[in-house]
Amino acid sequence: MQYEAVIGLEVHAELQTKSKMFCGCPVVDATKAEPNTAVCPVCSGMPGVLPVVNKKAVEYALRVALALNCQVARTSIFARKNYFYPDLPKGYQISQYEQPLAENGELIIDTPQGEKTIRIRRVHMEEDTGKLTHVIPEEDEPYSLVDLNRSGVSLLEIVSEPDLSTPDEVTSYASGLRDIVRTLGVNSGDMEKGVIRFEANVSIRPVGYKELGTRVEIKNLNTFRGMERAIRYEFQRQSALLDAGLPVIQETLGWDETLGVTYSQRGKEEAHDYRYFPEPDLPPLLVEKEWIDKIRSQLPELPRARMLRLQQKYALPIDEARMLSADLNILQFFETCAQLDPTLSPKTIANWICGQLFAWFNISDESITTTKIQAQDLVELLNLTQSNRINQTTAKSVLEVMLLTGKHAATIIAEQNLEQVSDQVEIEEMVMRVLVENPDQMSAYLNGKETLENWFFGQIMRLAGGKANPSIIKNILNEKLKKLKSASPSK
Ligand code: ADP
Ligand code: MG
Ligand code: ZN
Repeated sequence: MQYEAVIGLEVHAELQTKSKMFCGCPVVDATKAEPNTAVCPVCSGMPGVLPVVNKKAVEYALRVALALNCQVARTSIFARKNYFYPDLPKGYQISQYEQPLAENGELIIDTPQGEKTIRIRRVHMEEDTGKLTHVIPEEDEPYSLVDLNRSGVSLLEIVSEPDLSTPDEVTSYASGLRDIVRTLGVNSGDMEKGVIRFEANVSIRPVGYKELGTRVEIKNLNTFRGMERAIRYEFQRQSALLDAGLPVIQETLGWDETLGVTYSQRGKEEAHDYRYFPEPDLPPLLVEKEWIDKIRSQLPELPRARMLRLQQKYALPIDEARMLSADLNILQFFETCAQLDPTLSPKTIANWICGQLFAWFNISDESITTTKIQAQDLVELLNLTQSNRINQTTAKSVLEVMLLTGKHAATIIAEQNLEQVSDQVEIEEMVMRVLVENPDQMSAYLNGKETLENWFFGQIMRLAGGKANPSIIKNILNEKLKKLKSASPSK
């Protein structure tokens, strides 16, 4: 039996306002602040306290809802979602249930088959919980620590329809959402800090069927790669179950990144388990039409529009246009390079940023905002390459030194004597030397092993310390080999 995956995503994004959702405590960086230093009677669930809605958080939520083309409810209702857990001191989470802030939105993603619209079911406001740390000492009994710094931070939940069908689509959708909240300035998008979190609902069905299968919900997905792996794993697991005539059980699963497996956490709770009821301490949330219109008119250029503009203006492939436009600082870096020197091809600039620069950001702690080089510096380097003062390979190692030290390309080239050798006579000497010093390869070449031309090229470049002009080597080498071949009796 051939199956297809059906996937819906629930995304939780913290709204990074100055203060929390219902109290005046500051929103602090969970990875840096001392535990329990941003806590008050409201967010620690003391009896008799009253919540007050943070207007800025509503504004941030409206920005996201409008960017996703949702219908915003003029009246929405806060509700209590009741459950017990040590990271939830009140015993309930203030959320929205029957009347969420916004519904019926959409996000367009790119797939190999073209554009695809993913429908968004709802966008609602709620508050975050505290954070538990479980400690298992070698000698003593295990214990758990509670940090309430995050308790009561505004959280936006964005729920998609089950419109996603592959792990790639899920990543496009999830990163699309992340780019939007970043662009709107409401969330930093730092998955490793947990400020944006993803849960995937996955079911399968025989290809061609309309009816939905039984779904599982996978939690603790901390990276896009982990999410893709978890979905692939679930697809295999559920296919094997159905093939064996066994049912898929509706449940909540965790994902073990190290073992690469999902594991059962608990049976799936139903809405009625939470005993939802309207929050009696908060009035209905009313948003004026004028306010909505004002926020809509102030939305910045959104990532997809930006990406399409970049792609058209600079004739870039869609993938590079997306990588360059995802982050506004990267976009600015790229466009500054392109403006500084219109003789450089935008494609070349894009390749260097998406290749060398991104690779550096991946392995170092740096980013476009902390890097030691500026647009001007990259342009200088590319100019030196374009004018053949250095070759591509040298340019790559020069850039590495630039990124490490912040020195200018010209300085590094002078200091390390890296200037490209383009002197015909000098290169011809090196070509001849390599051909003469490798008689075995030479006769193999003359006997028809033509791929050895590349090997000779490599030897010559090595002799030149990587600094020779590659096209001059190629020309001279090719010419010499042709001559030798026509003079050779074994031909
Ligand atoms: P809950 O809040 O109980 O998790 P929801 O009805 O809000 O339930 O749905 C949560 C998510 O599950 C949504 O993103 C929805 O698209 C997705 N979903 C619902 N049914 C299925 C299914 N059969 N297969 C995959 N995803 C599903
Ligand atoms: Mg759910
Ligand atoms: Zn507080």
